[in-house]
Amino acid sequence: MRVLVTGGAGYIGSVVSAELLRAGQEVVVVDDLSTGHADAVPPGAQFHQLSIAELDPVIGDWGIDGVIHFAARSLVGESVADPAGYWRNNVVGTVALLDTLRAHAIDRIVVSSSAAAYGEPDRQPITEDAPTRPTSAYGATKLAIDLALTDYARAYGSTAVSLRYFNVAGALAVGDGGWLGERHATETHLVPNALRAAAGDGPKLQLFGTDYPTPDGTCVRDYIHVVDLAAAHQAALAVQTPGVHNVVNLGSGSGYSVRQVLDTVAEVTERPVPVDEVARRPGDPAVLVAANERAGELLGWEPSRDLRSMVADAWGCYQRYA
Ligand code: UDP
Repeated sequence: MRVLVTGGAGYIGSVVSAELLRAGQEVVVVDDLSTGHADAVPPGAQFHQLSIAELDPVIGDWGIDGVIHFAARSLVGESVADPAGYWRNNVVGTVALLDTLRAHAIDRIVVSSSAAAYGEPDRQPITEDAPTRPTSAYGATKLAIDLALTDYARAYGSTAVSLRYFNVAGALAVGDGGWLGERHATETHLVPNALRAAAGDGPKLQLFGTDYPTPDGTCVRDYIHVVDLAAAHQAALAVQTPGVHNVVNLGSGSGYSVRQVLDTVAEVTERPVPVDEVARRPGDPAVLVAANERAGELLGWEPSRDLRSMVADAWGCYQRYA
């Protein structure tokens, strides 16, 4: 299969592209490099520096059988300050992409959605039929894209799968000591921030909130390894449900607290993680854990790498590029 990967120069897109190539698929990457890195596009992928709104008519020459769509802005805090940018880039951009795919009879799409579409659900673990009440413009744009996909699939007969990620961590070793991992200019995520603090390369890790109603008072999240996530995307590409948009949560079904993650970082790096305990970060729910039965049923998928493996790989990547 020849797969178009939008956002294939970003963290998850580059890992998925590399894993598709390893599985023998052909990969065409499109990325405008607004946040991605050209050197993260795996060798062997065809690369075009374009935005998703610029694919018509050139996509017609590429022989695409299916699309995995990552290209999006993805910072929760930034989205609250700049909703216009998020709605234009994520929602208007994706609708333009869907229209381009329709014009070229490309009827298979896998989209990166987010647990942020649910907001703060009352019940854990979170099933796909939980109410969707996003608490940020980022989450709202991911939900809007999913609603568009449902309508497009139904009316135009395409097969669509939205993968709602919970927390993604880890990196992929790509030979010669190289890694594909998180290299965000603005890093907001727990694992890379904790690694930087442990390495002594940055400020102390700010621990947001120690008064949550959880066993140790810190937030509980459901972490999966980016390589497990890539396997789910490959499985989603094989789904055959013309006219149906499938929404699938991707998580392990169990959670770790922030303190448990920090303990694992200290173990793996063999260094203490300097911590500043500060107030809660606005919009962070106490617990977010995925129900992953549907991922098992539809994709035959379950995660196989534990938190220690995620932190160890992220640390390998950090040490190589810091
Ligand atoms: N967190 C933290 N310090 C940081 C980054 C994150 O205490 O520098 C906490 C955050 O409050 C949340 C968890 O770690 O409970 C995971 O946050 P992250 O931003 O990695 O992912 P999110 O769950 O927001 O998608």
